[in-house]
Amino acid sequence: MKKLSCVGLISYVVVMIFIPVITGLWLFSGRQPSGYVKDNGGKTEISYLDVADGKVRICDIEEYLVGVLAAEMPAEYELEALKAQAVAARSYILSKTDSRSDKHPTADICNDSAHCKGHLDEKMAKESWGKKKGDTYWQKLTRATEETKGEYMVYGDEVVEAFFFARSGGRTENSEDVWGESRPYLRSVESTGDLSYSEFVSTAEFENSEARKRLGTFENQSEGPLSIGKITRTDGGNIKSIEIDGKEYKGTEIRKIFDLKSADFDVTQTDKSVIFSVRGFGHGVGMSQFGANEMAEIGKKYTEILSHYYTNIQIVKK
Ligand SMILES: [Zn+2]
Repeated sequence: MKKLSCVGLISYVVVMIFIPVITGLWLFSGRQPSGYVKDNGGKTEISYLDVADGKVRICDIEEYLVGVLAAEMPAEYELEALKAQAVAARSYILSKTDSRSDKHPTADICNDSAHCKGHLDEKMAKESWGKKKGDTYWQKLTRATEETKGEYMVYGDEVVEAFFFARSGGRTENSEDVWGESRPYLRSVESTGDLSYSEFVSTAEFENSEARKRLGTFENQSEGPLSIGKITRTDGGNIKSIEIDGKEYKGTEIRKIFDLKSADFDVTQTDKSVIFSVRGFGHGVGMSQFGANEMAEIGKKYTEILSHYYTNIQIVKK
């Protein structure tokens, strides 16, 4: 009996205390990323890797956002576009606190614009704008951040990983057509404001031999025009696939190989060269910054801009 009691007691301890503690630890461990966002006296703190010196720093997300706006969107853009950008960037950063990149597991984000989001501190930003406009622009970006303080987008319970880019070719892209992963809030939508951009189409020309070197097919054939075969396009208008010299490439691959501004392009040829006529600039997923500015210019609010570019999202406040 005594032995049984002892077993009972051990079982009790295991079931009632040990397992919950272990489970609790496990749950805590699983939820740890959101713990990285610390509320400190009303401030939401995040950690970022400064790629300039390799150090991880902690800062208030609202202060950090002003520097993200400075790096990521032209400061002369309309206030409502900058406010949309502030909410999009805040959402992006908060989404990263729940799923840190393997490239910097000790920091929520980094300040490399090619990986996470760019960031300029006040001094650097003002230097880039020049003495005349520096103070005004910094104040404007601060205002865009303050007037949307704590606001971010959710889709259901999920914080929206709010991608954005410079300008589209008239429509944005479905996320799966660019990166293979479908997100319900990253759908292809119209972005007609982008069409008014004066440098809407850029061209890139390559001699046939250079084009084949880049494609890695130079050894097989160096002379003569490239043979362009079947082309398919995405819902957003980007090249989905293109056949060149009998080999099929994704549009995103061709963009990378030829360093094109986007994957929305046409191909023409001469005897000696191949010419890409490229519409827009960027990956095409999420908010077009130029399109957002065009919407702001015709009186749309930042909430309308965000609801247009991110499908079925809600804006909530922390
Ligand atoms: Zn990063």
